[in-house]
Amino acid sequence: MRLFHSKNTKLELLLRKHLFAMGFRYRLHSKELKGHPDIVFPRYKAVIFVHGCFWHAHEGCSCFRVPKTNQAFWLEKFRNNKERDRISIEWLESNGWRVCIVWECAVKRPIYFTFDELLDFICCWLKGGAHSCEIDGGGILPKLELDFEIFKVIRLGIS
Ligand SMILES: [Zn+2]
Repeated sequence: MRLFHSKNTKLELLLRKHLFAMGFRYRLHSKELKGHPDIVFPRYKAVIFVHGCFWHAHEGCSCFRVPKTNQAFWLEKFRNNKERDRISIEWLESNGWRVCIVWECAVKRPIYFTFDELLDFICCWLKGGAHSCEIDGGGILPKLELDFEIFKVIRLGIS
């Protein structure tokens, strides 16, 4: 469904613009990868999904609420969307990719961090080889367990 797969959302473009300016190079919506991740960083074996809180049914989020009409239809749709997300992430991880989910609310209305801190986090996450993670606007930024070997190698440009 086109709406669900709405690509190039404003938030995604914003992140891309800043990450590009920070020197990151990426591919977009890679068709070879399950779930067609929004931003793919082959060099870091990492992908970012920018999840709209509504379409991906971000539970407990103020940006998500089930529409009052046609509730059965919507609940079924949200269930399917979540299941598809889960399968894509499992597939990516089992194929050696690290996955970062950035929820829309992490950019639109974060409570505990600024946009610059979010960018710093993504930068460290990409370069430091940390595991998959999820960022939303209601929580703090995840704690990174960085792989300093990878970090050093990339910084020295030997990779
Ligand atoms: Zn949200």
